[in-house]
Amino acid sequence: MTTASSPLRSSTGSVYCNYCPGYCCYRLKGSTLLITAEDINRLARHFGISDGEVRQRYIEDRNTFKTRSDGSCPFLSNDRMTKRCSVHPARPRQCREFPYEQPCPYLLRTDLLEEIQPRIEQALIRSGRSE
Ligand code: SF4
Ligand code: SF4
Repeated sequence: MTTASSPLRSSTGSVYCNYCPGYCCYRLKGSTLLITAEDINRLARHFGISDGEVRQRYIEDRNTFKTRSDGSCPFLSNDRMTKRCSVHPARPRQCREFPYEQPCPYLLRTDLLEEIQPRIEQALIRSGRSE
């Protein structure tokens, strides 16, 4: 049984998220990160730009982030393996709440890890920090 002290209980502030390369920051087929108007405004204040500029730069289909070609969030840092969200204080609500007080599926499912881990390693190599 998963308890509040389980390492798999990766809610806000959990130790596990702090040491994870951010598997949940990649878009997988059939999944979409929902971005609300409130999330956009929080990012706008974080960057000191308008909501419209945030939409123009980072949003596609009205309510989700554009992604890089490897499916990663544009705010995911590629030069390190932990604490990779570059907008952490202003990250969207869904990022804060995932995985909704449940064990993190990315840490339990080898198929997800096998799909995402190579993308993380390739990005790290491209950034020149693989040594
Ligand atoms: S994949 Fe899971 S453990 Fe890693 S950052 Fe996302 S929620 Fe946290
Ligand atoms: S905003 Fe941060 S936590 Fe959310 S998907 Fe992007 S990099 Fe990950």
